[in-house]
Amino acid sequence: EEMANLSIHQVLDEVVFLLNAQSKRKNVYIYWQKKADDVEVLGDKSQLKQVFINLIKNAIEASFEDGVIDVSLEEQDSFVLIKVTDHGSGIPKHNLDKLGESFFTTKKKGTGLGLMVSYKIINNHNGRIHIESEENKGTTFIIYLPKSR
Ligand code: ADP
Ligand code: MG
Repeated sequence: EEMANLSIHQVLDEVVFLLNAQSKRKNVYIYWQKKADDVEVLGDKSQLKQVFINLIKNAIEASFEDGVIDVSLEEQDSFVLIKVTDHGSGIPKHNLDKLGESFFTTKKKGTGLGLMVSYKIINNHNGRIHIESEENKGTTFIIYLPKSR
């Protein structure tokens, strides 16, 4: 594991660029809004990129054709919040508690690995994941990470 001071702007720029082709195939637009100034976190770049890839991929998969995914950044005290919001299928209440459990998936060809790994990585970075979801309205994943000091 390689810890370094990372620019969140740069990490998200790279992830959104990587996922552009996949989102375009579904005519989904990833709207990455740099609402806050850039923030640095101490982290493992490839692991954190993997988390945002997992979340945005899930958001693309949950979106309807022509959907929009909002990716944004906020600061709250000593934390940076990265929000990934889709306007897709949403997550039924009875499934919310199961996310992050071993291999939970509702997809035919799913593995359930994405969130499991993401929870682990964010825990290792002393952060946390918060989910807000409403069925048929959409889902927001909020990643809290401590800012570097
Ligand atoms: P997989 O994508 O292989 O199913 P994940 O760990 O990435 O595995 O996700 C686990 C499950 O969480 C998904 O199968 C899906 O039911 C649910 N999920 C995750 N993100 C979303 C989302 N943005 N919208 C709706 N459901 C989601
Ligand atoms: Mg997934």
